[in-house]
Amino acid sequence: MTQKAVEVLAGPDRTRPFILMVEAASIDKQSHVNHAAGAIWDTIELDLAVGWARRWAAQRRQPDTLLLVTADHAQSMIMNGTVVIGDDKLFDRTPVYTAQNSAAVGTQTAKVYRDVHSNIRAIYPFNDIDPNQTGPGGPPAHQRSPLVAALGYGSLGAYEFPDYQDENGDGYPENRQVGEKGKVRLSVGFRTGSHTADSVPISAEGPGAFLFTGVMDQTDIFFKMAVTLTGDTEEGDRLVPLLRHPRCPRTIGIR
Ligand SMILES: [Zn+2]
Repeated sequence: MTQKAVEVLAGPDRTRPFILMVEAASIDKQSHVNHAAGAIWDTIELDLAVGWARRWAAQRRQPDTLLLVTADHAQSMIMNGTVVIGDDKLFDRTPVYTAQNSAAVGTQTAKVYRDVHSNIRAIYPFNDIDPNQTGPGGPPAHQRSPLVAALGYGSLGAYEFPDYQDENGDGYPENRQVGEKGKVRLSVGFRTGSHTADSVPISAEGPGAFLFTGVMDQTDIFFKMAVTLTGDTEEGDRLVPLLRHPRCPRTIGIR
């Protein structure tokens, strides 16, 4: 999609100026329902799109393309480490333990599943995203997700994403069985199904990239882009080659 959009916007002789925003929106959508595999999968897709765009920009005769990569907010997913767990446990959607806590503010129910060591879900109800559910809900949230319902997956264990094994070396990650126990998987955890208030990173490459250093308000990004489009950034851009000097530790992304 990124490739086609750039081809159309830049025109047949690749000379038309353009602004393109590419969004990997499922990183967020899958996080809302605490579906770590889905969020990670779409992050890989974003990485492929960014990689294509970087190669396209690098092939320009003049370095005339500013490439920015950022997020509009974060989600509560964290990576706790790794854990060895088999498919039988990971895909078992039968709760093995249910804990309930009643207090003056209401009752909270937490269900524990057999993949608890690899996917710690938020214990809060997800009623807010499912109008048909009454009373306290709980994980696995993605089964009640309107996204999953829209795709027609009604039964337990119907995952809406392909297996992430890479048998043919096309660049997607391998994850093979280790002995009898299963596969080494990321251990992830969610605290909520909502956006967080974290600061998010931004990376920049190309003319005007030096403007995007330090800490900034998100609304500054627009004005920094405007400066790059309308002004001469040549003087500042000369800073970047200095980072290639052998006395500087290597900076990834600096060509
Ligand atoms: Zn969201």
